[in-house]
Amino acid sequence: MFEKILIANRGEIALRIQRACREMGIKTVVVYSEADREAKYVKLADEAVCIGPAPSAKSYLHVPAIIAAAEVTDAQAIHPGYGFLSENADFAERVEQSGFVFIGPRPETIRQMGDKVSAKHAMIASGVPCVPGSEGALPDDNDEIIKIAKKIGYPIIIKASGGGGGRGMRVVHTEAALLNSVEMTRTEAGAAFGNPTVYMEKYLQEPRHIEIQVLSDEYGDAIYLGERDCSMQRRHQKIIEEAPAPGITDKQRQKIGEACAAACRRIGYRGAGTFEFLYENGEFYFIEMNTRVQVEHPVTELITGIDIVQEQIRIAAGEKLRYKQKDVHIKGHSIECRINAEDPFTFVPSPGKIDGYHPAGGPGIRVDSHIYQGYTVPSHYDSMVGKVISYGDTRDQAMARMRIALSEMAISGIKTNIPLHQELLLDNAFRRGGTSIHYLEERLAQRKKGN
Ligand code: ADP
Repeated sequence: MFEKILIANRGEIALRIQRACREMGIKTVVVYSEADREAKYVKLADEAVCIGPAPSAKSYLHVPAIIAAAEVTDAQAIHPGYGFLSENADFAERVEQSGFVFIGPRPETIRQMGDKVSAKHAMIASGVPCVPGSEGALPDDNDEIIKIAKKIGYPIIIKASGGGGGRGMRVVHTEAALLNSVEMTRTEAGAAFGNPTVYMEKYLQEPRHIEIQVLSDEYGDAIYLGERDCSMQRRHQKIIEEAPAPGITDKQRQKIGEACAAACRRIGYRGAGTFEFLYENGEFYFIEMNTRVQVEHPVTELITGIDIVQEQIRIAAGEKLRYKQKDVHIKGHSIECRINAEDPFTFVPSPGKIDGYHPAGGPGIRVDSHIYQGYTVPSHYDSMVGKVISYGDTRDQAMARMRIALSEMAISGIKTNIPLHQELLLDNAFRRGGTSIHYLEERLAQRKKGN
């Protein structure tokens, strides 16, 4: 096992990884920007290295500074967390070339899955169900493009192969708008991702977002840890996640889970990963794979009892998977609310000093957050300041515990989206479960109208 790991991230995930390391008796090195000097995990680290000023490009994305920090501290491995460099194949390669272990998949795998056209090819070859669409990149020939769209049937969606973060997509409803949309998406994709390749998919109208968590070791063993429902989103950003997904049967779970595990074996996947699907009319459609730990991993941890971050570290250290599929049992229900420093209804970010903080607690409540009273939320990064995760024997109990936890939690000095979560926890459609990815935006639009 490693003796020392460098954490190349910030915020709640830096603290989460640090907690996993400390539990395993591994020393931690934290890198931080000047804006994060006062963060809790910086003080708790065995060693901390300032890697630059606040802007991410000059610190958390500055590869030479991170590698140099690993060198001077003699760390053996680097955990990238999520966001920042976590899905950057060149970074993973640099880490390995510099003699450190990258806690994640092989750089080739990150590259393959980061390109959506090649990811889809790999999934089709592995028997994972995908959204019907063009076979690979769209050709240059306009007549061909029109033919492909006709065959799929409108509405369709044009997506950038190099896209991410909900950008580089355009929905097309009629043939009249098709070629212009393809051209615009290509131009935007070229500018934003340095890759103008686009492809086409059937646009699903009322899908849910359901994803499968996997763990896979270097020796060809792979397991799935069930699914998460992350349909409650605004602008493609998830805000509430839960596991298991309401209404998914054991049989469905097993079928899709086994397809994902088989794909991991086939592509030689290493580490923790997530297969994201749209789910509509009882069918799963693969959209992309995330080759890293996800924000919402705790809900899976609570229903399986498996610590995903510790398993990532074990796999990276060359250990064999400690669990077989038959050891994975799903028990109870878990819900996560992402707490953002923002106005709950206008979504305007609200960084600043937290002058009062009373965290949530009680049975079945886990809080993953780096904030404390007196902490200043910097304005330079993502607005998420933590996550409240509840667990219960049933979905109703997990919901009730979340409601109680949020009613007790107090954060003052900044605005948070807790009031939005409180409304949603009382919302009838959400309480029934199974709302689509459009539900939150539709509800917010209604709310604005005063309904
Ligand atoms: P990104 O990497 O940018 O997150 P994804 O491929 O995961 O891109 O898609 C992001 C979101 O876009 C999905 O969660 C869904 O809301 C929407 N989307 C993507 N493909 C489709 C599709 N074929 N039909 C309907 N919605 C889609």
